[in-house]
Amino acid sequence: MMDAHCGTQPPGRLVPRIDRNRCEGKGDCVAVCPFGVFSLGTLEPAERRSLSLVGQLKGWAHGWQQAFTPRASACEACGHCVRACPERAITLMRADANNPRHAPTAADRR
Ligand code: SF4
Repeated sequence: MMDAHCGTQPPGRLVPRIDRNRCEGKGDCVAVCPFGVFSLGTLEPAERRSLSLVGQLKGWAHGWQQAFTPRASACEACGHCVRACPERAITLMRADANNPRHAPTAADRR
């Protein structure tokens, strides 16, 4: 667990968005986040169809395991997850940003 007082922003101003075509569910983000933002889970079948061909192949190869952000509102933008992700799948964005490539999935909102 990292230092819990390492945040740079008030909770929820910036949030992590996960590129579903890159995430392989390795869990480094879960391990490093001091605020418990992430969890691992299985990408829903309906969400798999929106992936690129490469994303679908990667997803299938990894059993559709991906990281989700059920506690995104707790993010304080320390950046540990961005640096830790071996797939470079995480981007910190303003919570109100509208970028389809980094759109939250239904699982992210649960
Ligand atoms: S930047 Fe990443 S590691 Fe840091 S609080 Fe936000 S989600 Fe957690």
